[in-house]
Parts: sequence; C-alpha cells; structure tokens
Amino acid sequence: MHTMKAVVFRGINDLQIEEVPRPKPKAGEAVIRITATTICGTDVHIVKGEYPVRAGLILGHEPVGVIHELGEGLDDEFSVGQRVIVGAITPCGQCFYCLNGAHSQCGGALGGWKFGNTINGAWAEYLLVPHARANLAPVPQMLTDEQVLMLPDIASTGISGAESGNIRIGDAVAVFAQGPIGLCATLGARLRGASTIVGIDPVVTRRDMARRFGANVTLDPATDDVVRRLKDLTGGRGVDVAIEALGRQETFESALRSIRPGGVLSSLGVYSGKLVAPYEALYAGLADQRIVTTLCPGGKDRMRRLMAMVAEQRIDLTPLVTHRFALEDIKDAYEVFSRQGDGVMKVALYPAAVPERVEPAHEEAIVAHA
Ligand SMILES: [Zn+2]
Ligand SMILES: [Zn+2]
Repeated sequence: MHTMKAVVFRGINDLQIEEVPRPKPKAGEAVIRITATTICGTDVHIVKGEYPVRAGLILGHEPVGVIHELGEGLDDEFSVGQRVIVGAITPCGQCFYCLNGAHSQCGGALGGWKFGNTINGAWAEYLLVPHARANLAPVPQMLTDEQVLMLPDIASTGISGAESGNIRIGDAVAVFAQGPIGLCATLGARLRGASTIVGIDPVVTRRDMARRFGANVTLDPATDDVVRRLKDLTGGRGVDVAIEALGRQETFESALRSIRPGGVLSSLGVYSGKLVAPYEALYAGLADQRIVTTLCPGGKDRMRRLMAMVAEQRIDLTPLVTHRFALEDIKDAYEVFSRQGDGVMKVALYPAAVPERVEPAHEEAIVAHA
C-alpha cells in the first residue's frame, strides 16, 4: 500500500506528523497531490478543542495541488497532471440544500465544510476530493500557487461578507476586525463600490494593511469610540452595512449599533457561548434591519470567478502570505500563526520544498483595483 505524510489531529493541542495510507478515489472522486496549503483561524479553534472534530483526522481545508488520480467518470472534463484548487467547502451540487442555493449547507447545517472537519483534509501530501466534478477548479497557467492559495477559504469568505451585505455603489461600510478574513471583506466592499470603507482593528499593522485592501478610514477600538465615529462619518445615521469578521459579542454588538435603520449586519465570525442583541441596539426589532450570516462559498465556479479576478489583476492576495514553512514543520508554523506573533497574517505550508521568497514587485501597490 502507498503511504503519505500527513498532519494528524490526535487530541487537544496535539498535532502529529504521521505516515498514513494514501487515499484511492472511487467513482466521482479525485485524489490531488498537494503543492501548497495554509492554516486558518478555524484550525486553531479545532486544535485548541473549541470546535470538536474526531481524533485521527487530517486537518486543513485550503488545498492547492495537481490532479494525481481520477476516479471513474471524470476523464471527459479533467486530466491527471492538471493544476487545481478546491474550495474549503465542497458541495455535492445535487442535494436539497444545493438545489435550493445553500451550497455551503450541503446535506445539512455546515455540511458543505468537509475537509478537516468530517473527512480528511489538506495538511498532507495527497487529498481525496469528494464530488470532484463540482469541486475541481483548474488553475489558469499564468497563476502561481501563492496567487491562488487564499481563494479556497479566506478570500471566498471575506468577499462573501460584502456580497451577502448587498453593498451598493456609494454605501458606507464598516468592517469589524482586519485579520485575513476582515481584510478580504474590506477588499469585497471596495469591489462592490462602497464609498466609505472603515477598517476597525486594535493592531496598527492590520490597520495599515486595511488601507492597502481598500479602507479609506481606519479606527482603533482601543482608543476610538467606534460606534460614535461611524455615526459621525455618516451624518448621524450609521453605516449602510457593517461586516463582523471576528466572532465576539463585543464586535457583534458594536456592528449592530453602528448600522442605520434599514441597514445590514453581515456576519462572518464564528461565535461560541451566547450571542446577545440588546433591544435598544436592535431598535426593539422594528427598524427594518437585516442580520445575515454566511459560510464560505465553495464549488468550482466560485473558485473560477475568484481566480479570474486574480488573473485580471483586479485583486492580489499575495501580501497576506507572510511566512513559509515545510509541512513537516507544522508545529513551528502553528506556533507562529496561533500566537499571532512576528507580524504573521497567513503562513504557506509546502509538502515538498519551500520555494524561495519572491519579493512583490511593488510592496505598496494597492491590492484592489476596483
Ligand atoms: Zn478556514
Ligand atoms: Zn449538496
């Protein structure tokens, strides 16, 4: 039997590099050889035991790779050796939820999220892709792995916060938290044509990054009265759309207090414990406001669209990749990422050789050419 190296979750705060069986595809499935992957904040929740998954699972849900083996019934569309990405969310395209447009909820609540949650994930040399016809997304030849590495999850998720908020040209938008997802939400607000985009984060390097991703105002919640400042910026009304990208009671509540009557709170955060909406912040429930939640959109056409945005130089997410590690050095990579030290935004993990760092041609180039 062929084996492969993989990062296995053995229990809380216990990640192990192990030699495990290499997957074999059944009909309709594919196996890809992973060339690059990354660590998500959600993985940190899993490792810390805040989101339960079974011991023995291979984690990771952001795959970039090459088709290694195709199960029956796919060779009319795909071929071995093709470079692909696969969304973090892998809908089947055929169930009740998929056919009702809720692809990320494939099969039931959160069911579209399979990699590193209910089935083995991308922190390995090889990955089994379910429902491959709906989920293998060929990478345009001119794009590098790092140019597409953020698309399977954070870019899709962050931009969806702007889409779900139905941002209109000329809207005022506040984005609460400017981590990788919040920055992609800021980018999404710019792409949707918002006029005022306010990036909110206590970390100065993240506020600086927010400007590169499209914010024209930044606020520090440690020193600014954020809700008051947002009202001041909008003639006393409040913002049209607030995007919550952290998953905490405080940021949810501030986002709610900052939207105008008739406005939208678009929530991307992952919450735990109890989430409370004070009645006065909700205008007693009578102000025609909407609260929408979104799980990362996946599937091959979502990935195609995002790759088209990169290929046409409308977006550039490579500034988010601040650190590179061999997959075998997962413990060091996890330590740097989970501690949020050393100016880290996202780490790239390489199962084979770690490439030389390629310096961006224009360090200060704006990220969104809207
Ligand atoms: Zn994720
Ligand atoms: Zn489905």
